[in-house]
Amino acid sequence: MKELIEQRDTPGRGHGIFALRSFERGDTLYVGVLDNTPIKNHSHASQIGKSSFGFHKGLGSKFNHSCDPNCGISINASGGHDIVALQNIQAGHEATYDYAMRNYRIEYFPGPCSCGTANCRSAITGWKDLPQSRKDAYSGFVAPYLIEMDRD
Ligand SMILES: [Zn+2]
Repeated sequence: MKELIEQRDTPGRGHGIFALRSFERGDTLYVGVLDNTPIKNHSHASQIGKSSFGFHKGLGSKFNHSCDPNCGISINASGGHDIVALQNIQAGHEATYDYAMRNYRIEYFPGPCSCGTANCRSAITGWKDLPQSRKDAYSGFVAPYLIEMDRD
């Protein structure tokens, strides 16, 4: 199968994931496969359930955060998080998602956000700290347990 994405250097921000073809809203860029080693929350772990954290195999952990992302999250049958286009993405563009789309709180992320978008929150914060307008904009592209946690 032809690769859909690849890792490239992003000057000043380490590396990121780039689209190798164009994607339309709703298309899957990466199929999430969990590495089934249980761990505690820390800076590179993804929240994968109301109180569970883990890692994704392959390029899943390499996507950069953006406060104005072009991708979102969809949980697949294996419990892994697919990365799905929230907006149309052109080939060669960086694919990003908002880490708040899967993590309710983010307390372990060091330093300011460097996404550089007009909507930048200046720090990478979790779902619980998003304004309602952002939550609404991400509707259908976030981990469902976040919505449940808001109700708890
Ligand atoms: Zn930002």
